[in-house]
Amino acid sequence: MNANRKRMAWIAALVVVLALVPALAGSFTVSLLNDIGIGALVALGLVLLTGVGGATSFGQAAFVGIAAYATAWLTTTQGMSPWIGLLFALLLTGLSALAIGMLTLRLGGHFLPLSTIAWGLSIAMLFGNVDALGRHTGLSNIPALQIAGWSLADPRAMYYLIWVVVGLACLFSHNLLQSRPGRAIRGLRGGATLLASVGADAYRVRLSLFVTAALFAGLAGWLYAHMNRFVSPSPFDVRASIEYLLMAVAGGLGQLAGALVGAALVLVLKNGLQDVLPMLTQRAGQLEAVAFAALFILLLHFARGGVMGLLRRWTRRRAGTQGASRHDAPPVEPLPHRQLPERGTQVLSVNGAVKRFGGLVAVNDVSFDVKAGEIVGLIGPNGAGKSTMFNLLTCTLPMSAGQVRFLAHDIGGMPQRQVARLGLARTFQHVKLRPHMSLLDNVALGAHSRTRSGILKAGLRLDRTEERQILQEAQRQLDRIGLGDRAHELAGSLPLGTQRILEIARALAADPVLLVLDEPAAGLRRKEKMALGDLLRKLREEGVTILIVEHDMDFVMKLVDRLVVMNFGSKLVEGVPSAVRADERVQAAYLGSVV
Ligand code: ADP
Ligand code: MG
Repeated sequence: MNANRKRMAWIAALVVVLALVPALAGSFTVSLLNDIGIGALVALGLVLLTGVGGATSFGQAAFVGIAAYATAWLTTTQGMSPWIGLLFALLLTGLSALAIGMLTLRLGGHFLPLSTIAWGLSIAMLFGNVDALGRHTGLSNIPALQIAGWSLADPRAMYYLIWVVVGLACLFSHNLLQSRPGRAIRGLRGGATLLASVGADAYRVRLSLFVTAALFAGLAGWLYAHMNRFVSPSPFDVRASIEYLLMAVAGGLGQLAGALVGAALVLVLKNGLQDVLPMLTQRAGQLEAVAFAALFILLLHFARGGVMGLLRRWTRRRAGTQGASRHDAPPVEPLPHRQLPERGTQVLSVNGAVKRFGGLVAVNDVSFDVKAGEIVGLIGPNGAGKSTMFNLLTCTLPMSAGQVRFLAHDIGGMPQRQVARLGLARTFQHVKLRPHMSLLDNVALGAHSRTRSGILKAGLRLDRTEERQILQEAQRQLDRIGLGDRAHELAGSLPLGTQRILEIARALAADPVLLVLDEPAAGLRRKEKMALGDLLRKLREEGVTILIVEHDMDFVMKLVDRLVVMNFGSKLVEGVPSAVRADERVQAAYLGSVV
């Protein structure tokens, strides 16, 4: 709370200073601050897209340009109001982002940044070659904005509009990050499988984020056009895009404030260089590019977190580790629960499942059933194909042959996220958590498919009831696994064994019918294992069905109702624990490993 209050004080001070600037500063400072505000708006989109979402765009200036040209064209050649220009600009930017996003966001690795460069180049070229857009001379005589008859032609008036927009955009982004869609965006770096396991579609999350960032750039473009009253192609080329990216990186991709700090840093530095360099050389323009490149390289080497990253490290060192606490808020109505199937009815049925990896048959014609309210153990020596089996029945991997039925659905070939939405929740042998998100947020991600709020609703804070329900549910699941008092700690600070348990809480937040756990007890101490066993038994009593891979035979034998034993990809035997333990084939398979 204290840290929160401190931050509010900082923000209040910043607002006061910014509000006083036009009265105190000269016109040069005001127009520099106008540029900084516009740059910050674009950089804010990049902090979200690149910093939080992990997708690098070298084409952001193109979106600024589309909006600027859109409003410039509409208001000059068509004589329409700049406010209609705003709608038109945002519509055009949003649609272009949607189209370009749909074409490029499925590309993995370096293809996305590369394609954004191509996109940035071609848009700038387009501006320079269309007659209606004034070719290289651009469009001039763009009208100034008017609010209720009050003209914003004066940069000092424009200043207030720009910074109010920047403030609102910061608020929107801040709200967004602490919401259902925000957690999905923050989960993007964890990979598509993590998101799909909670019922989210990584592609759609990334696409909506891409459009959001483009709309921020669009807003900046609209402001730019009506501030300068003139547009030409060069401020929207790839060089400008790189400058925006540099702002985001220099300020700190990890934090929203990084956009403001970075925009200020880059533009002040650029202005300084433009004053100083001509005194030293006649090739100032080229030297400026070199100076910026050097700055970029230095940043990447010494301060990847940017200025805000350094600042944060410094303040954290001074403050020591923050006291963690529970998430305590007044209780709200809980999220609705799923109707669990009646005990004994068939929940899962695997029939002749086969998985080949090239020549290797990892799962070979395996069949078994799981009934509601059972705990079934899947055991076998290392490399027997257990994790692969789990990946098949959760549709994380496509099957080579066979069928899987879950409840009334044939889920073979269904996307993983859809299966998750049906109530099949899982944990991973190789933990998939977001280490820089709190325990609470990690678990709250699990409730994704039970809730609906999107980016707009979250950014405008219209999702608060649902958000409270989600956090309450997440806290309840954390309490259940005994980590309730550490809700606000970072997941990455937990020992690996405990991280596995945290994944169980995330799976439980999805209100599952069937819980699929891959080696949940690995890395736990004896007492923690006992607590885990108690939790799983309690879940069984509540009617949750559980399928578990586990190596600790003692633990498994005491826990499960039935066992399926795999060896070399095939099913060896199936039966109650005592029968399996006595089976000679099982003993032979385990010879040499610890039983
Ligand atoms: P278990 O979980 O029982 O230890 P796995 O299902 O992880 O076994 O692995 C079964 C076999 O399949 C192993 O031989 C493993 O090397 C192989 N395997 C698993 N995943 C892949 C993959 N993605 N590509 C190729 N081979 C794989
Ligand atoms: Mg495994």
